[in-house]
Amino acid sequence: MSGLIGHPGILRELHALAESADPPHALLLAGPEGTGRTLLALEYAKLLNCERAVPPAGASLFGDALPPAVSNIPCNECRPCRHINEGTHPDIITLAPGDTLCRPRAGETSHERHPLSRDIRICQVRGVIDLVSRYPFEARTRMILIDPAERFGRDSAHTILKTLEEPPGHTVFALISAAPEAIIETILSRCRRIDVHTVARAEIEAGLVERGVAPALAAEAATASRGRPGRALAFANEPDLMGVRKRLLERCERIATASNADRFRYSEEMAERWRRDRATVLNEIDAWEAFWEDRLRAAARVSGQGPAATVARADVVGATAALRAVQRARDDLQAQVMARAAIDLMLLSFPRSTLGGPVQEDTASHA
Ligand SMILES: [Zn+2]
Ligand SMILES: [Zn+2]
Repeated sequence: MSGLIGHPGILRELHALAESADPPHALLLAGPEGTGRTLLALEYAKLLNCERAVPPAGASLFGDALPPAVSNIPCNECRPCRHINEGTHPDIITLAPGDTLCRPRAGETSHERHPLSRDIRICQVRGVIDLVSRYPFEARTRMILIDPAERFGRDSAHTILKTLEEPPGHTVFALISAAPEAIIETILSRCRRIDVHTVARAEIEAGLVERGVAPALAAEAATASRGRPGRALAFANEPDLMGVRKRLLERCERIATASNADRFRYSEEMAERWRRDRATVLNEIDAWEAFWEDRLRAAARVSGQGPAATVARADVVGATAALRAVQRARDDLQAQVMARAAIDLMLLSFPRSTLGGPVQEDTASHA
């Protein structure tokens, strides 16, 4: 079974693209991590490689039979489909920051290794161009996944342009990005862009149950995943991760009621961590989003007149501003804005007077 949950519309689109006279040779799958971007790219790879997708040689045996029904492709049973699903296909290649495909310039005598580099470097692009010039091992169509695609350095971006635009017929690219606005326009314009959004909670829950997850756990994991099936699957496989998330939310609660000095200490710690461990910082930003969404929902439930309603209305305004600040911080971080500045700005935008405790007069907090 494919790991993908949700996105029926995108699947239809990928089918149509794969069956068109001129399937796009560069896709951009843009959307948050955990939504299924990579699985969708692999779906496209299967569509282009499934043995049932084209009539075998000697198709006249089948007379004028219609091509197999769309729903049978990819079959997930033939050799290419299985190898793609298992992650063992030799022609599905991922280019990421680090040493992947690094190919020093001809005659370059010393090329320092760079397994921890944060960019996709020009030596790696050289490796891609070299690879693309050769035939795939066994695939009809090789796929090169570039993830995350916003990490091209300027030189490497320019160097890959021509290959991206006109790869030989046996190679397609799939660019994966949570921050497509950080990708240069000349690259964007060469890709068929597909926006991958979060998935409805009920759809994720049903998808987990279909995969044999116990209903109660499926419901809990779907809720905690906030629209990201990949994360929901991880939660279902390892429920302890939800405890980690709960602790993050408790931390948000503490910071939200803390003094400015404490908030800045927290910001400093997060910015420092961003340099070595982006994933946990992004997780924490997600936790902040969940935190303020909960506040917003709670406040929006209060209606009518009187002091409680007045406080609730202020809460709605405060939480809405906070959510905008969270989104902006996430965008800024991914667009390589100075982490400290981005996080400070976010924390300054959080209201402090609206956390259910005594209402404080603190106009300065509504930045
Ligand atoms: Zn197949
Ligand atoms: Zn290199």
